[in-house]
Amino acid sequence: MNSLHDMTVAELSQALKTKQVSAVEVATGFLARLGGNPHNAFLDIDSEVTLAQAQACDARLAAGTAGPLEGVPVGHKDVFVTRDFATTAGSKILAGYRSPFDATLVQKLGTSARDGAGMVTVGKLNCDEFAMGSANENSAYGVVTNPWDTARVPGGSSGGSAAAVAARLVPAATGTDTGGSIRQPASFCGITGIKPTYGRASRYGMIAYASSLDQGGPMARTAEDCALLLSAMCGPDLDRDSTSLDVPAEDFTASLNHSIEGLRIGIPKEFFGEGLHADVRAALDAALREYEKLGAKLVPISLPRTELSIPVYYIIAPAEASSNLSRFDGVKFGHRAKDYVDLVDMYKKTRAEGFGNEVKRRIMTGAYVLSHGYYDAYYLQAQKIRRMIADDFQNAFKECDVIAGPVAPSVAWKLGENAGDPVADYLADIFTLPASLAGLPGMSVPAGFGAQGMPVGLQLIGNYFKEAQLLNAAHRLQQASDFHLQKPAGV
Ligand code: GLN
Repeated sequence: MNSLHDMTVAELSQALKTKQVSAVEVATGFLARLGGNPHNAFLDIDSEVTLAQAQACDARLAAGTAGPLEGVPVGHKDVFVTRDFATTAGSKILAGYRSPFDATLVQKLGTSARDGAGMVTVGKLNCDEFAMGSANENSAYGVVTNPWDTARVPGGSSGGSAAAVAARLVPAATGTDTGGSIRQPASFCGITGIKPTYGRASRYGMIAYASSLDQGGPMARTAEDCALLLSAMCGPDLDRDSTSLDVPAEDFTASLNHSIEGLRIGIPKEFFGEGLHADVRAALDAALREYEKLGAKLVPISLPRTELSIPVYYIIAPAEASSNLSRFDGVKFGHRAKDYVDLVDMYKKTRAEGFGNEVKRRIMTGAYVLSHGYYDAYYLQAQKIRRMIADDFQNAFKECDVIAGPVAPSVAWKLGENAGDPVADYLADIFTLPASLAGLPGMSVPAGFGAQGMPVGLQLIGNYFKEAQLLNAAHRLQQASDFHLQKPAGV
């Protein structure tokens, strides 16, 4: 048996089911690795809670009532509310906040519901404040470092999730993706992550950033592990999430190992233009050649409005954020300013103290584009172009089955490199935003290494509800390559 922390979700699950190891032993092993909080990946750890969950798993394993992933550890991005751990969304305004309930995805993966998959929560993972960012440098609780090079960012906003999985602090984690926050940190940290079709996994209990874009999903080392988690996460939650789709859960592992002979992989010319760094392009070219060897066909396609996805996203997402974040007013939850003269003064001081600069910037932008006189010029226009971007994908899918391209124009950049220049971070989102705006499933698959040995991810985008096809395509690449097996020095 490999050492515990080197085992995948699939391997751990097997070892637990065959009683080679107990859930308490697994939890104890991982808790020992978390001590000292490497990479500042975690925001809350509570070994008593984790061990109690593990004991419950061992009881269920002994009684033959175990869920499919019983006893396997998981970490949750800190935007998923949890009863047993604090939830801050990386913000000071929610410091120490305890939710009275678990998010649906936490429930579905965990041990609190009878039909939960049985995973043990080992803690809450650092992220950009309210998931706004591309480098995890906007967390109120400090930056997360990239396990491949601690002078570099892990990506964002699910940077804690990606770093924890890459450093083998957890075998898997949840993330959320509004404009790339699962795919981009997965790419920067050399792991696998998938954002399913918008509405396929419940948003209930996921602290809202931009509700028409937010989507939770799994991050793990392999496509198979992502398939295992995603199978437990998807499914309708109609009573609790008004945008939840009435599409049944699916066993995404069932189609792994299907042949990809004849699979048409669309290569958008706009994804391989000048802005793409040469090292990223070289790694992607090699991965695409591997796909050809596996029998796939590369088809040139066009997504003509790719560039527009940046202004469109950075109008729509802040607009929705400015509305969603109005609930943090010092009354219902979280931080409240101490000295104030009246209610309005309390609101102002609470929000001025509680929110960080990037969140304030987004709220101001959002309020501006929604205001009388600018609504038509910005917000409405952005909504129209959003629809055109979605239509462009449907045109492309007439010619191909999946779309492949970069996740980001470069490998992970140095900490502080974009300090004072938020637009530099926004521009780097160019390849992940289109699928988000269209609500399409997308994933990042380790595809090689670029400058200074930093990981490069290949993005695969599928049509609505084609997660199984994406996961299979990723799995086939992982059977033919070993990028996902590489680990950072010292891990
Ligand atoms: N980088 C993008 C933003 O800052 C996407 C973040 C996300 O997907 N949560 O909004």
